[in-house]
Amino acid sequence: MPAVTITSYNPADPDDLVVAVEEPGAEAVRAAVGRARAAQGDWLAAGAGARSAALGRIADAVEAHAHELAALIVREVGKPSAEALGEVARTAAIWRYYAQAPYAPSGAVHETAAGPGLLLTRRRPYGVAGLIAPWNFPLAIPTWKAAPALAVGNAVVLKPAPEATACALRLAELAGLPEDVFTVLPGGAEEGAALVESVDVVSFTGSTGVGRAVVRAATERGVPVQAELGGLNAALVLPDADIAQAAGHIAAAIAGYAGQKCTATSRVIAVGAAYEPLREALVKALAAVDDAVCGPVINAAARERLTGAVSSAVGAGAVVLAGGRVPERAGWYVEPTLLAEVPAEHPLAREEFFGPIAVLHAAADLDEAVALANDTPHSLSTSVHTRSLDVALAAADRLDAGMIRVNAPSSGVDFHLPFGGAKGASHGEREQGQAALDFYTVSRTVSVLPGGGAL
Ligand code: NAD
Repeated sequence: MPAVTITSYNPADPDDLVVAVEEPGAEAVRAAVGRARAAQGDWLAAGAGARSAALGRIADAVEAHAHELAALIVREVGKPSAEALGEVARTAAIWRYYAQAPYAPSGAVHETAAGPGLLLTRRRPYGVAGLIAPWNFPLAIPTWKAAPALAVGNAVVLKPAPEATACALRLAELAGLPEDVFTVLPGGAEEGAALVESVDVVSFTGSTGVGRAVVRAATERGVPVQAELGGLNAALVLPDADIAQAAGHIAAAIAGYAGQKCTATSRVIAVGAAYEPLREALVKALAAVDDAVCGPVINAAARERLTGAVSSAVGAGAVVLAGGRVPERAGWYVEPTLLAEVPAEHPLAREEFFGPIAVLHAAADLDEAVALANDTPHSLSTSVHTRSLDVALAAADRLDAGMIRVNAPSSGVDFHLPFGGAKGASHGEREQGQAALDFYTVSRTVSVLPGGGAL
């Protein structure tokens, strides 16, 4: 039987094959995890100084190769160049941030309840962390999983998305960690499932359906698992907002990187008198979006799914306010699109489509806007546009989203704070910041009592 190959193609030029590698299969995953388990003890024993220095060197290497890495991101996943450079800079910053973590306290000292002695808590790594990543942030997501896992002394086996294979392989090469401490194993569903079956802690980012299956499999084995899934993110615009600024932010959140961020805006909710001016400003802002902001979508299937959803929504009575056509050009481009009057139960209003398409809704007041925004299980990020601090605070109290961004696009993440969704958009502990260091360690309580009588 011929070997199955994993391929990734340039979304802007589908004839350009970026990489082809043989699919390793489940047995190779188990072997890589076994080698990682054997290497983990020395990595932990090398100490905080060695781990800190190693992670710092990765930050340096990423920075030294910034232009090469950004060009690879552009070529492999179609990210516009400025965003690709931004992702590389963020990748270096994340390695540098977690390079400090090995020196941080790993527990606390407590008094015993009675008598002499010491009680300690101490956080220890699990062993081998299995990381499963999507393609849309091909360096930053693998990094925000791998860096904290490695900092606290785990070995890592990362399975990137097939569409981002070349980026992940290059990252592992540049990392230059001791053998088997950081392994990138290309693959698809078979390798991902085998990884979940063999590691000691699992971190997954990707679509909701796959994530739920990963959570079930890891939970069945009794290993800790976190999963960050799709989002159906809303932008709420109040009548007192700076409408031009809000439209600019929302257009960027709809069309930036062709809407392929988990935090992209796909529902715009205009409150009361904001509707008319916002509609006008948003249509203008979307029409002004160019290739520097909105590149191609990842592949032909994604483009078909998006254009099919728009046609079906129009068939069901939706009105196209902006875009809606497929540009006549090579590459998997879709016009930034805004629709109104999409029936409430149409998939475009209920599911994540992962493209530069949004639906405009009207709400009579803040209550109705919050109810609309909360009417989804995929609650990752919501933006609120208003000049009123009271409204901003009220919305922040009542919105179910994991991330609430006031007068900012729904897309955008600060890597040193906890990141994740609410309700069905997230499972388990948060990613990034200190939360990630907690996730990749388990706490032990140590009691040290005097051995030979009273102290
Ligand atoms: P995907 O779910 O198709 O794939 C994600 C990863 O899971 C890939 O590495 C894939 O090979 C692997 N996989 C597939 N089947 C598997 C299985 N049965 N067992 C184990 N692993 C398996 O997602 P994608 O298309 O790569 O990425 C886009 C999705 O990711 C969108 O839904 C987006 O919202 C989501 N995303 C979420 C966040 C977040 O932090 N919430 C961030 C980025 C992307």
